[in-house]
Amino acid sequence: MKRALSLPKIAGIAINIHWTFTILIAWIVFTNLRAGLDAVHIGWMVLFVLSLFVCVTLHELGHALAARRYGIKTVDITLYPIGGVASLERMPEKPRQELVVALAGPLVNVVIMLLLLPVIANFDWPDKETQTVFLIDQNSFLPMLGVVNIWLAMFNLIPAFPMDGGRVLRALLSMQMNRVKATETAATIGQIIAVGFVFAGFYLNPFLIFIGLFIILGARAEAEMVKTQSFLHGLTARDAVMTNYSALDKNQTIGEAVRMLLDGEAKNFLVTDQGEPFGVLNRDHIIRGIQAAGESAPIHSVADTNLQFAEMQAPLQEVMQNFQQAKLSILLVREHGRLIGIIDLDNISELILVNAARGQRT
Ligand SMILES: [Zn+2]
Repeated sequence: MKRALSLPKIAGIAINIHWTFTILIAWIVFTNLRAGLDAVHIGWMVLFVLSLFVCVTLHELGHALAARRYGIKTVDITLYPIGGVASLERMPEKPRQELVVALAGPLVNVVIMLLLLPVIANFDWPDKETQTVFLIDQNSFLPMLGVVNIWLAMFNLIPAFPMDGGRVLRALLSMQMNRVKATETAATIGQIIAVGFVFAGFYLNPFLIFIGLFIILGARAEAEMVKTQSFLHGLTARDAVMTNYSALDKNQTIGEAVRMLLDGEAKNFLVTDQGEPFGVLNRDHIIRGIQAAGESAPIHSVADTNLQFAEMQAPLQEVMQNFQQAKLSILLVREHGRLIGIIDLDNISELILVNAARGQRT
């Protein structure tokens, strides 16, 4: 579910602005109104923040277009008040490619800064000691935008996940060791840097504490994701397929589906039409069906008829990506055109847990 405003596509990539963005703009307007700033200066400030996010969008487009060179698509770019996120289909696993994709974003900010360098150099910067309030106006707008781009590049190049610098570090380490080890090492280095930020924050600027905490949380998520990916490495749909699954005929009632849901552990069911796959029924469909049509309605009125198939020999990493992108409940596995069984996310999670317990790493 996404509550976002969609802008026209750039280079075939959808740009979304998350609704929380309006809070940021409102916050700028209200706090400055309360501080007694005039409308013209507030206008400049809002324009500045919007321009800043144009730079953030260009940064994300840098990642997206670099990834495209390696055949990796970008689903969309979403702008949040704290920054932008380009949803790449996947990160390249080849160290050199990851390095290029990770560096492409900050490089955009460096280019913007270089373009604005003449105005930065010519601007009459106020003396820190004499002036405490610095306002954005027609004179300071472009120089400030240039300076902020330097900060954006530097911030993103901090060698810690989830920053681009963390990926740069991982890519460099991957040239010497395997990817899981490289991720763990990069995450550890990132954590040390994060703790450094928190301590520095006590003495210098409280904002550094916030950055430190942000890094500590981000690093853990990244390490988990790579570990999951590595556990799936080398496995195929064959390893996760359930040949013993629950199926319902499309003409059975929602009430019968409820009984099956409460009776066993299965939450996702294959719906068949005279023995042939027809659709998918999950817990949400059943609940919604009861509310909308009642328990006596047939299953086919609420089932999702969009069936997705995977071949037995399909890599499990690919299967996992399908789940995440299409938000599937189950995937049908077939071999030589014949249905063998189904896969759901619970099943993949169990497989990961079992493999982790076995200490298997490939
Ligand atoms: Zn970036």
